[in-house]
Amino acid sequence: MKYRVGVDIGGTTIKVGVVDENNNIVKRCAVDTPDTFEKSMKALADAVYATIGELGLKIEDFPCVGIGTPGSISSETGRLVFSNNTNWKDVPMAEELRKYFPVPVFINNDANCAVMGEAVAGAAKGRKHVIMLTLGTGVGGGIIINGKLFAGGDGVGAELGHTVLFHDGYPCTCGIPGCLEAYASATALIRQTKEAMAAHPESAMNKWVEENGKVSGRCAFDCAMAGDPVANEVVDTYVSYIANGIGSLVNVFRPEIVLIGGGISNSGDFLMNKIHAQMPKYTFAYDVVGYPAIERATLGNDAGIIGAAYSDQM
Ligand SMILES: [Zn+2]
Repeated sequence: MKYRVGVDIGGTTIKVGVVDENNNIVKRCAVDTPDTFEKSMKALADAVYATIGELGLKIEDFPCVGIGTPGSISSETGRLVFSNNTNWKDVPMAEELRKYFPVPVFINNDANCAVMGEAVAGAAKGRKHVIMLTLGTGVGGGIIINGKLFAGGDGVGAELGHTVLFHDGYPCTCGIPGCLEAYASATALIRQTKEAMAAHPESAMNKWVEENGKVSGRCAFDCAMAGDPVANEVVDTYVSYIANGIGSLVNVFRPEIVLIGGGISNSGDFLMNKIHAQMPKYTFAYDVVGYPAIERATLGNDAGIIGAAYSDQM
């Protein structure tokens, strides 16, 4: 059996996974992310050695160490240009990690690792052209063209959440007005839900929030599924933003499959059926060629580790 090792760096934890030839994660480890960059890289290396050691493996048994991290990574130099989540700015991540590992070290953005993981072992297995949209606190994304990751110049491209949906629209966290993220993220859905609740005190959503403590991305979906007409309208409008965003990506890339990941995708068939219902409206030449497969991602949080483990194939 041959093994691979992948690391998923987050703002609060660093996760390590050893992946076998069948793409199962056979050993895991998670450690808290320390407060400085240098300490974090040491903690990462310690966690990798501890995890592979438990399997009786040596680092030389692995083709590479693959890392997924939030932020923008220059693929040429392995420098992390900038990361919101960890507050690291222009740090030599690859150089620092090469002090610890005698095998090749590859670093990619975490959203890109997730789409790679899905293409290797998840919902996009066997597909050559893949787009993934991750609908969470923000809107992340990844592009695979001809089986290879497309990250753009300096690794700062493929920011699918920061394509503009509305000219001079709602301000996005990135500073650009009207981004897809400002309408299609869970954060945006919460804003849209609160607006509808204020305008319609009779909506079941108000009762839902009393029972559940606060507005979350689930509120409108739960109430719409239970038959509340106001919640259903919130969801339909929210899904129209997602479908419009997917349509624009389909019109540019025409992938074989579009994957939907992130917390919002847990709404399952109720969400997916509504997306499918709106796709004809936003797809170029729909009458002639229809639109590609659109499915939920299947690996959840493991996608990032599995994708990172295959960094040498990206
Ligand atoms: Zn933006």
